[in-house]
Amino acid sequence: MTHPFLDLPPLTAARFAAIEDQVAALLETGQDVLITQGEALLPLEGAIRAAAGPGTVALNVITGPYGQTFGNWLRDSGATVHDLAVPFHAAVTAEQIREAFAEHPEIDFVSLVHAEAATGNTNPVAEIGEVVREHGALFYLDAVASVGAEPVLPDAWGVDLCVIGAQKAMGGPAGVSAISVSERAWARMAANPDAPRRSYLSLLDWKERWIDAGRAILPHAPAQLEMLALEACLERIEADGLDAVMARHRAAARATRAGALALRGGLEPYVHQARDAAPVATTLRVPERVAASELVAEALRTDPGLPLAAGGGALAKEMIRVNHYGPDATLDAVRRSLAALGAAMAAQGIAVDPEGALRAAGEAWH
Ligand SMILES: *Cc1c(COP(=O)(O)O)cnc(C)c1O
Repeated sequence: MTHPFLDLPPLTAARFAAIEDQVAALLETGQDVLITQGEALLPLEGAIRAAAGPGTVALNVITGPYGQTFGNWLRDSGATVHDLAVPFHAAVTAEQIREAFAEHPEIDFVSLVHAEAATGNTNPVAEIGEVVREHGALFYLDAVASVGAEPVLPDAWGVDLCVIGAQKAMGGPAGVSAISVSERAWARMAANPDAPRRSYLSLLDWKERWIDAGRAILPHAPAQLEMLALEACLERIEADGLDAVMARHRAAARATRAGALALRGGLEPYVHQARDAAPVATTLRVPERVAASELVAEALRTDPGLPLAAGGGALAKEMIRVNHYGPDATLDAVRRSLAALGAAMAAQGIAVDPEGALRAAGEAWH
């Protein structure tokens, strides 16, 4: 008897290449798109280790935990790193990037996270890209949490290394990811003697053995189940329409923000300005005398399927994350999340207005 997951025919090189082309179409890019067979940390780390080295002067923008990780890899690679840390309740501005270049004109690499699901902010990549291009620096972007929730356009924005994963707004698998690489970025890697080669982290290996060889023979056995899931997820986005998928995420963010405010009880959007709030996930600040992790635990006790989490690390006390992405980018998921949070707050003796919250969420959605 054949098993639906196990007894599959081999995934061909042609099919693998076709899935890469679908990703390229999603990103509207003419750059090389490489599918990387691991969670998005694989291309995120691989790109930094390949493109940065002892001669690199990097501007590392920190708007959440991923920016901190990138700074560590950059330092590890021997780069000189200028960190630009922005409070987690805001976004970085193109003006701040311009000032950083004015202060350190030798910057030749900029790393930025587009949207951070962990902090709920999103950054104006198009405007920042203009500044980066004016100065000729290489532009590295983590678009894992933005792709599918808002436009991600590496060519239009001058992004040289753009990493995506399917597990957030695309509603796809987590074990596979992709990166688009500009000609400039390939040249920078090729010139870097410390770029990984003959290594699982190596993007250059894949360029030489896969892209430059005409994508005819796969260098390794493909992660077949993840590739099939990625293909299915790209096809579903195409069938629904990318604009419709993004609109659902925007509506979910709007509804969550409006609903949380209407709930009263002191729950507030963590990101101050709506324009800085990521469509992929909404973060909320809890009133001082309650612990976010306790509210979330209580809400999940009543409904374990809710897309709720407390903030990571030190943020666990003050931040609730409403991860309204992928299949949870629905009014129903938002309303159930607000109702459960309202009930958890009421159980702690906080006066809340759940009907008002649900009404406000519905109005903001439509
Ligand atoms: C989610 C996310 C990733 C991927 O990390 P996971 O731990 O697999 O979810 C990478 N970068 C950003 C900005 C993310 O939000």
